[in-house]
This record gives sequence, C-alpha cells and structure tokens, in this order.
Amino acid sequence: MKKIKIVSFLMAMMLVLAACGTNNAANNGGEEGGSGDDGGTTYTVGTDTTYPPFEFEEGGEYKGIDIDLINAIAEEEGFEIELKPMDFGGIIPALQADQLDVAIAGMSITDDRKEKVDFSDPYFDAGLTLVVSEDNNDITSIEDLEGKTVAVKNGTTGADKAEELKDEVGIAEIRQFNDSPSMFQEVANGNADVLIEDYPVIAYQIKTKDLGLKTVGDRLNGDQYGIAVLKGENQELLEKINSGLQKLRDSGEYDEIINTYLEE
Ligand code: GLN
Repeated sequence: MKKIKIVSFLMAMMLVLAACGTNNAANNGGEEGGSGDDGGTTYTVGTDTTYPPFEFEEGGEYKGIDIDLINAIAEEEGFEIELKPMDFGGIIPALQADQLDVAIAGMSITDDRKEKVDFSDPYFDAGLTLVVSEDNNDITSIEDLEGKTVAVKNGTTGADKAEELKDEVGIAEIRQFNDSPSMFQEVANGNADVLIEDYPVIAYQIKTKDLGLKTVGDRLNGDQYGIAVLKGENQELLEKINSGLQKLRDSGEYDEIINTYLEE
C-alpha cells in the first residue's frame, strides 16, 4: 500500500515538473513554432507605440486594427502573443537582434525591407500623403515643397520619400521625429511647413481630433501593409500568419475588425 502511494506521489511530481518544463519552453518561445496543441508558443510582437487606428492605447489597453488582427490570427492558429510597443524606427532592428518574433505596425511592404524581413500577404492598402496646417494654402503638391521644412517619422516610408524628394524638388530641411504625434505637433505649431504620413492614419486623426491639419494633393504612392518576421528564419510562423489572415478574410472577421475602427 505504502509503496503504491510513494510511486503515485513520485508520478505526480514528475507530471508537475514536466508541466513546468513545457511552460518555460513556451515563455522562451519563438524558435519552435509550437504545434498549437497545448496553448502554443508565445511570440513577441513589436508594434508602433502611437499609430491609431492601427495601434493605440486606451484605458491602459492596446487597441486598433493591427492589435485585433494579430490577436485574431494567434487565436485561429493556436499561438500566444506578447505585445512590445516601441518607436517604429526600432522595430526592424529589434527583429534583427532577435528581440521580436513578429512586427505588425502599419508597416509598408518595401523592397528595401524585404532584404531584412519576410512579409505576410498584404493586409491593408495605405499610401502616403502630404499634410499641412489647416490655414496653409501654399502647398498642394510635391513641387511646392521647394524651400520648405518637412517633418517625418524616423525609419518610415514617409522619411524615405522626403529624402528622395530632397534634391529633386529642393526641400530646405527634413526634421525627424520618433513618433507620429510629435511630427503632427511640429506642423500644427508652424515649426515645419508640411509632413508626410500614411493617408488612413492622418485621415483618422483629423476625423477624431482637432489637430488643425489637412491633407493635400494625391496619394504619393500605393504602400500596402504587411506583417513582418525576420528574413529566412521564421517560415513556419509566416505560414501560420498567412493562413490565419486568410481564415479571417473568409469568415468576415477581417471586415468586422476594419469596420470597428474605420466605419464611415
Ligand atoms: N507605413 C509606414 C512605413 O512603413 C509608416 C509606419 C508607421 O509609422 N508605423 O514606414
């Protein structure tokens, strides 16, 4: 009798230890791309700090299209996520330094970035636009940027666009900011003449807040957003992301998420 008790005690202990082991592996997660049969692997997900309607904090909680999408994908595909909000410019370096497994940050799919990361299928059509203060009637197209001060956000396609236009049209100065709200402020205060931002982001901001800004001219390009993982290292995870995204499109949940934030 006693022997049986000891044996079952030992077996119970082994089960507890085994469970702890699994847990640790999951927390260190990332590399293994868990099979999804026991709660799954936890992936760290880098996201922009302030980028409504894609990611923003409200009542101590992260919300937005990107946040809802990555949570829904994780649920479909049986993995866990841990969000790491950071300045946009730090996201690709953090992926390269293995501090992140995934990035979803209104990140445009570009050829330059494809040298460092692999992108999911596109999930949103954006595109850049010029933005000026409400009372500015001098600037309506890129030709008008001659001699002007342009505010941009570090590491973005907007910043690349300004660099590209600098000599072409004779931009006087480019000012870099780490986050979109500081960039908006610079133009609203009259310290810079114009900024370059993704159309859906600035349109949402103008609609929901009194920023004193307006968009001008046509969209400067046809940027599309993708979810990124480190290049060549995470194919299994990328496949899950694409498969999750497709399931959300098929079920209508993708549209529901978009409409939650962008319903006209
Ligand atoms: N879509 C732009 C880019 O990829 C801006 C992204 C952002 O500011 N979060 O560079």
